[in-house]
Amino acid sequence: MSDVRQHADDIHEQFSDHLEDVSVEDVEERLTTLVDEYKVPIDEARRSVTNHYLEEAGLEREDISSGDSEKANVEDVDEPEEWIDLTAKVIELWDPRSDSVAQVGLLGDPTGTIKFTKWAKSDLPALEEGGVYELRNVVTDEYQGRYSVKLNSTTVIEELDDDLEVGNDTSEIEGALVDMQSGSGLIKRCPEEDCTRVLQNGRCNEHGEGEGEFDLRIKAVVDDGIDAHEVIFDKDATEDLTGLSLEEAKDMAMDALDTTVVADEIRDDIVGTYYRIEGPTFGRYVLADDVEELDGPVDAEELLIKARSM
Ligand SMILES: [Zn+2]
Repeated sequence: MSDVRQHADDIHEQFSDHLEDVSVEDVEERLTTLVDEYKVPIDEARRSVTNHYLEEAGLEREDISSGDSEKANVEDVDEPEEWIDLTAKVIELWDPRSDSVAQVGLLGDPTGTIKFTKWAKSDLPALEEGGVYELRNVVTDEYQGRYSVKLNSTTVIEELDDDLEVGNDTSEIEGALVDMQSGSGLIKRCPEEDCTRVLQNGRCNEHGEGEGEFDLRIKAVVDDGIDAHEVIFDKDATEDLTGLSLEEAKDMAMDALDTTVVADEIRDDIVGTYYRIEGPTFGRYVLADDVEELDGPVDAEELLIKARSM
């Protein structure tokens, strides 16, 4: 079989469910025209012909199968636009921010965790939090260095009975804590059972107005010189980092009749300081498990380069 014919076959196969009156010969003719008459490289010709049929069928790239998805683990995902099969547990579902998305959340397998998106128009069954699924034919995606998988209309979902152990991707970051985000300091959480949402102006998104229980946490941005990482310090990590206990923080807020004094005090204490932080990655966050304060930028070389360029 000629090279062009093979590509025509592949493309035809991808669209077999969507364009019934397109023959392999039609596809081959389009490819041949581009390659022979317009001297377009075969890869580019294939992309162009694929796009032509996508448009004709009113589909997105995610809607067509590459026909050769491979069984993979979460940790293997390091390229966009790869077609893979995953066996994974739904760790968390988030609220979709767009009508085009039916479900969005976090999947995990023993090798790590990864975000997933399920398109509304893909018309797939709903995934349940805690459920374990075999997901065939999902496509990988990348945004700002972070990978995700997309469930599309060619995806096949099969719920499994077994449980699945979920592993952590542990991260180690060394860098300057450059920012503390809102929602840090002394916060109040919803007291409803199994609801730990942070109250916004005394309200839980789910349960409405409530008394709330005080908690301490920090959402920080740590810059390692290459990337900015979002790091969460829970109560224990916050107490360790700042030397301020939850009780002391409550007293401070009571004296000032204002909870924001706690965040202000913490900000003054930590922003601009260098840390080595280790902990599991959870979605886009690193949870600070092990924290060490550093004297300054660790990479002396880098400092010298910076100094010379001033
Ligand atoms: Zn609640």
